[in-house]
Amino acid sequence: MPRFYELDHDESSPWKGWFTAAHKWKLPGVHCPQCDAIWAGSGLAYPAVDLSDHPERGKFEKARLEENFMEFERLRSILRPWVPDGFILEPGTAFGPLVGRVTGQLAPLVLLKSEFNMLASREILEALQGEGLGGILGCRTELRFRHKNPPEWLELQIEPHGLLHPDCLPQGRPPPCPKCGRDGFSLPAEPILDAASLSQQLDLFRLANFPTVLIGTERFKEAVERHAPRCLSFRELPLR
Ligand SMILES: [Zn+2]
Repeated sequence: MPRFYELDHDESSPWKGWFTAAHKWKLPGVHCPQCDAIWAGSGLAYPAVDLSDHPERGKFEKARLEENFMEFERLRSILRPWVPDGFILEPGTAFGPLVGRVTGQLAPLVLLKSEFNMLASREILEALQGEGLGGILGCRTELRFRHKNPPEWLELQIEPHGLLHPDCLPQGRPPPCPKCGRDGFSLPAEPILDAASLSQQLDLFRLANFPTVLIGTERFKEAVERHAPRCLSFRELPLR
């Protein structure tokens, strides 16, 4: 069985650049009529999904709460044909390019922890793709830089895949809400991956039942250490 690593920003990274950005479109948050939760998920973003020609794109342009649950379900259903099969669509899922501003010198591969997404310079993206890794898709961004002639940074589209093993989740927790799907648990301090939920086709992904956790395979780790050292840190997670 291959090894899997939770990804984080490398605190020893010599690059001090950062970015403040949001995706162009977003499914609204919801107020669930059954469990009464008001929520939007974090982490799910499909930057390759372009809604520029969607007839109702205006409804997705601002982060907002949709109080009418039936309207939320309608909005989700009209996005479904625009999104690849199997991609999860939860409240707060984001689409399209990152729009925003960069300050300082960005690392060639940068994980923005507060937004749970990753940018790569064109050179690093091509180096990772040249290693034959699965799941490395670069998407254009609309980021503004202070300095002139910055190199191009692309956002990696990181698909949801794989699950935390039930053994590492709180015992006796309530089941997910059957109406809105909310499954409110905190990330365990010692996550365990469900080996049966993992395929070997993706070398970079986010957990389907905890999308803020980014996972790379051993092949991904070795490629990053070769082409973009001191950009990411890696913590091996056990499998069960
Ligand atoms: Zn609910």
